[in-house]
Amino acid sequence: MNDMTLIPRADVTLPEVQVNRHWIGGEWRGGAELSDRVSPSHGVVVSRSAHGTEAEAEAAIAAARAAFDDGRWSRLAAKERAAVLLRVADLIEGAVERFALIETLESGKPIAQARGEIAGAADLWRYAAALARTVEGDSFNGLGPEMLATVLKEPIGVVSIITPWNFPFWILSQKLPFALAAGCTCVVKPSEMTPSTTAMLAELLDQAGLPKGVVNIVLGYGQPVGAVLAGDSRVDMVTFTGSTAVGKAISRAAAGNLKKVALELGGKNPQVIFPDADLESAADAVVFGVYFNVGQCCNSGSRILVHEDVAEAFVARVVDLSRQVRFGDPLDPETQVGAIVTPEHGAKIDGYVQAARAAGARVVLGGAALEVPGLGAQFYRPTVVTGVTPDMPIARDEVFGPVLTVLTFRTLEEAIALCNDAEYGLSAGVWSENVHTCLAFARGVQAGTVWTNTWMDGFPEVAFGGVKQSGQGREVGRYGLEEFLEIKSVVMRIGRTRANWVTARHG
Ligand code: NAD
Repeated sequence: MNDMTLIPRADVTLPEVQVNRHWIGGEWRGGAELSDRVSPSHGVVVSRSAHGTEAEAEAAIAAARAAFDDGRWSRLAAKERAAVLLRVADLIEGAVERFALIETLESGKPIAQARGEIAGAADLWRYAAALARTVEGDSFNGLGPEMLATVLKEPIGVVSIITPWNFPFWILSQKLPFALAAGCTCVVKPSEMTPSTTAMLAELLDQAGLPKGVVNIVLGYGQPVGAVLAGDSRVDMVTFTGSTAVGKAISRAAAGNLKKVALELGGKNPQVIFPDADLESAADAVVFGVYFNVGQCCNSGSRILVHEDVAEAFVARVVDLSRQVRFGDPLDPETQVGAIVTPEHGAKIDGYVQAARAAGARVVLGGAALEVPGLGAQFYRPTVVTGVTPDMPIARDEVFGPVLTVLTFRTLEEAIALCNDAEYGLSAGVWSENVHTCLAFARGVQAGTVWTNTWMDGFPEVAFGGVKQSGQGREVGRYGLEEFLEIKSVVMRIGRTRANWVTARHG
C-alpha cells in the first residue's frame, strides 16, 4: 500500500569510526575502556568513546574549579571573552559538514536538518558573544547624601552541563556559550548515545584560544559521570536538558550544597485549531510539529485539539500531508524524517499506539515499524490516532515518536482547560485569524512558549524554557545569560558619616 513517501538507502560512503576521549584541563584523557555507538539508521559502529569514571568526573570538576578561582576566564574583560566566542563561531561554521555527518549517524536525524542545527549553533555562539559585553547591574543614587549602592552581576562559578541525545550540538550551544559569556567555567557531559560533536568541539575551543581548564568534557553515562557532576559540592550550578525523571534526580543530587539548578525537560505540547484559521498552513505546521526529528523533540506538537466543526476535514488533510513527508535514509539530503534512536525506544512508541488502539482509539495512519529499503535499522511510520480521550496515556505522556494524537473541542475555554490538564507546560500553539482568540489563549495557557499561527519558530534572542514539570529557568536570550550570573549588592558609605551604634549610657 502506498501510504507514505520512502527514501531508500543513499549511495554514501560512511566515514571511519570516530574515537572520542575526555578533555580535562586542556588535555585528552581516558580511553582504556571504550563504549561503542551503533548508528540507529545504518546499524554500524559510528563512534567509540571513553567510558568515564568517577575519578575522571572529579578531575574535570577540579580543573574547572581551579580555572574559575584563578580568574583566567572569569576576570578577563568581557571584550576578550567575546572575541574567543566569536572565533569559536567561525570555526563551527567551517566544520558544519564534518559535524553534521557524525551527528546524523549517531542520532539518526536527517543530514539536511543536522547541517541546519550545526550552522544555527554557530549563530548561538555569536549571539552569546554579543551578550557578554552587555552585562550590567543597577546603581542607587537616591539613598541619601552619605550612601551609594550598586548591584553587581558576577559569574555564578563552576557550571555542570548535562545534555540529551536528540539535539546534541544545538542544546550544548544553548548553554555553553552563554555560561562562558557570563565568565563561568564548565564541565560538560553529553549523552552517551551522541557524544562525538561535543568531544570534537574541544579542538575548536582550543584553536580559538580558550584558556585550558575553562571547558572540560567528560564522556560517559548518567552513572557515575552525570551523578558526580550534579552532586559535587565544588560545582555551583547544574544546567540539564533531558527527561523529567532524570531532572528530578538531578535536583535531589544538587540539594547537597544547594547548587542552583536549571532544567529543560519534557513536553506534551498542544496545538489548538479554530475553524477560522488558515487551515492549510495549520495542517502543514501540525505535520512539521509532530514528525520533525521523528517526534523525538521536547517541542513535539504531539497532541492537537481541533474544533469539532472542522475536525474531520482537518484530520483528513493532515493524513494526506503525512503521506507526502519523506521518511528514510538520513544521509539522503532529500530525507525529512530519519530513524528512532534505539530499538527499545521504538518498542516504547509502538506500545503507546497499541495501548491506545486497545482502549478504543482509531489509528487512521501508520501505527507500526517501518522498513527502509537497504537499511536494517529502526524506523517508525507516520502515525495519526483519533478518537482519543484526555485520560489515555497517549494523550498525556511524552510518546517521543512520530505519533499525532487528536482530540476535539467546542469552546475556547474548553480548549484552554484541555491544554492545561497536563503535567507538562513547555509550549503551546493556537491557530485562528481572530486576534482576541489568540490573545486569550496566550494568556490562559500554561506554557513557557506560545506560538500563534506558527509552530517551533525560535531565535537566539527569545528565551526558551518550561513551566510545571517541563522545567525551571530559561535558556538563550538575555534571560539565558542571566541564569549564569549571581547578584552581589555593594552598599557604600561616603565619608566618615556613620553614626555609632554603641553610645555611652547617660545617668
Ligand atoms: P535523559 O534524561 O535520559 O538523559 C539526558 C542526560 O542525562 C544524558 O546525558 C544522560 O546520560 C544523563 N543522565 C542520565 N541519568 C542521570 C543521572 N542520574 N544523573 C545525571 N545525569 C544523568 O534524556 P534523553 O533521553 O537523553 O533525552 C530525551 C528527553 O530530553 C525528553 O524527555 C525530552 O523532552 C527532553 N528534552 C527537553 C528539551 C527542552 O529544552 N525542554 C530539549 C531536548 C530534550
